[in-house]
Amino acid sequence: MVHHFDSLIVGSGLAGLRAAIEASRHGSVAVLTKLYPTRSHSGAAQGGIGAALGNEEPDSPEWHFYDTVKGSDFLGDQGVIEVMCEDAIRTIVELEHLGVPFSRTPEGKIAQRRFGGHTRDFGAAPVRRACYSADRTGHAILFALSEQSELQGVKIFPEFQVLDISIENGRCRGAVAVNVRTGDLHVFTAQATLVAAGGYGRIFRTTSNALASTGDCLSILFNKGIPLEDMEFFQFHPTGLQGLGILITEGARGEGGVLINAGGERFMERYAPTIKDLAPRDMVSRAIMTEIREGRGIDGREYVLLDLTHVDRRIIDERLPEISTFCKIYMGIDPSEKPIPVLPTAHYAMGGIPTDVDGRVLRDERGAAVEGLYAAGECACVSVHGANRLGCNSLLDTVVFGRRAGMAMGRYIKGAERVDVPKSALDRVRGELDSLLNGPGDEQAGAVRDAFQEVMMSRCSVFRNEEDLFALTGELQAFRERAERVKIRDKGRIFNTELMEAIELRHLISLGEAIAGSALQRRESRGAHSREDYPKRDDENWLKHTFAFRTERGLEFRFKPVTITRFQPVERKY
Ligand SMILES: Cc1cc2nc3c(=O)[nH]c(=O)nc-3n(C[C@H](O)[C@H](O)[C@H](O)COP(=O)(O)OP(=O)(O)OC[C@H]3O[C@@H](n4cnc5c(N)ncnc54)[C@H](O)[C@@H]3O)c2cc1C
Repeated sequence: MVHHFDSLIVGSGLAGLRAAIEASRHGSVAVLTKLYPTRSHSGAAQGGIGAALGNEEPDSPEWHFYDTVKGSDFLGDQGVIEVMCEDAIRTIVELEHLGVPFSRTPEGKIAQRRFGGHTRDFGAAPVRRACYSADRTGHAILFALSEQSELQGVKIFPEFQVLDISIENGRCRGAVAVNVRTGDLHVFTAQATLVAAGGYGRIFRTTSNALASTGDCLSILFNKGIPLEDMEFFQFHPTGLQGLGILITEGARGEGGVLINAGGERFMERYAPTIKDLAPRDMVSRAIMTEIREGRGIDGREYVLLDLTHVDRRIIDERLPEISTFCKIYMGIDPSEKPIPVLPTAHYAMGGIPTDVDGRVLRDERGAAVEGLYAAGECACVSVHGANRLGCNSLLDTVVFGRRAGMAMGRYIKGAERVDVPKSALDRVRGELDSLLNGPGDEQAGAVRDAFQEVMMSRCSVFRNEEDLFALTGELQAFRERAERVKIRDKGRIFNTELMEAIELRHLISLGEAIAGSALQRRESRGAHSREDYPKRDDENWLKHTFAFRTERGLEFRFKPVTITRFQPVERKY
């Protein structure tokens, strides 16, 4: 079946829906999502969305700008960071008008809490900057945007998994998707296509990310020669529930929680004397892993404790009800009575599809764009997060740049020629599905995926070194071959999740290659990329973005200068 729309959006998370609302002012819009729309991972976001409203303490967009640059370990592009922080206040007001029920101060203003790396007076002390709806902030925003999209007449195609994005002669034409409910293939042609397909934390064994966060669309574009930027920077959130990876929001430390080691010591005082437990995530994750490596994990094991027992129970009940329930259900622990066992968990992709400030996808490091193709949200890299994202800046990124991309698409479709997805794209997808379904393989997708995630975790997580990364690139080649030999036992068409998992597995491995290759290139430690063999940041050689390309000769890397408008790199201390 063939569908025609002015704008096509892949992904119904915050970035996709915010863009859809904007694009719907200029023409017809379709949103494809492999999930039921409000099941997108955005709905799991807990702690908050950042904006210098100054409702609880004096604050300014300039301090937010500075904190984000410093948090990014000076790799974030300062022009776009300034755009985001300046637009943040308007964004929160707009979200409120769209129906988001933010938590309130006693006077009725939008309440704000502390989050890692957010400070006042350029690093003097933590500041209350994260706006929140208890610890269900993403859920509240996602439902408001979902209602608005419906009101604007956006056509949503739930459980439509995109298998190909069509780019011919430098021009994007739309996408090919399978209706997972029926197994039918559908072609969507559009003047402008936005990829808002979220993150890919499922690359790692322990992750806070949803099952669907497999990075399909990044891999599809990468395999077509579109570069991926800064893939070596993957954030590990310091506080995942031990053994499970389920997230305990940074808001828990924002409300007064502290980390303690086997000796009962509040160890963050040693690593970040000024803002302690509210240091940025890369630092706190490294501190936890260092405590464990040096034998100060609880009972000599691989975890530390997040202690909230001194925090008023009413605050926990009102502002952190969700995580309190998680602790009770999954660990049998009431956080008001007992500290929570935690360990870093793979959380957020700083790297992704390179874009400009209006979401246009770049096809090289010099800034040439792919006509008609846009990206926003976690899958994109406009580079506001650089080498390390600050908490509560991702939700902000999705709505600020989702909106900008939607506006840019609206402008673009006015003058754009009508295009079609060539029939060859559909034939190619059909051929690939047939060969997967009928191939002679002997591997199981789930088993290959588990082994792959384990290796990514052990060789390429919080700490890295050349030996591990080099070994990893060889192992990935073997995983790629195993993924080619996956046997699909379910030959049916309806909800063939085994087939979808086999496809996602190939995408995960493809992105694993981009991460490992980029990490091997970068011989320095910066933000979330920590090389044991190159422990220092090296601005002279590495103050630049990595662009990884898949070519016929294998992976190739080129580099792009960082945009510095205001804050010169200095040593990062907290
Ligand atoms: C547990 C958790 C808590 C978080 N808390 C916070 C927080 O408090 N503050 C903050 O700022 N950030 C937080 N983050 C990060 C933030 O939530 C995400 O980065 C952000 O919501 C991503 O939004 P998105 O719109 O880019 O993608 P997502 O919300 O992940 O949506 C991706 C969409 O793409 C679709 N999709 C993917 N592949 C395909 C395909 N092949 N075909 C069709 N559709 C596809 C999916 O169906 C989905 O609709 C948190 C993240 C997690 C995991």
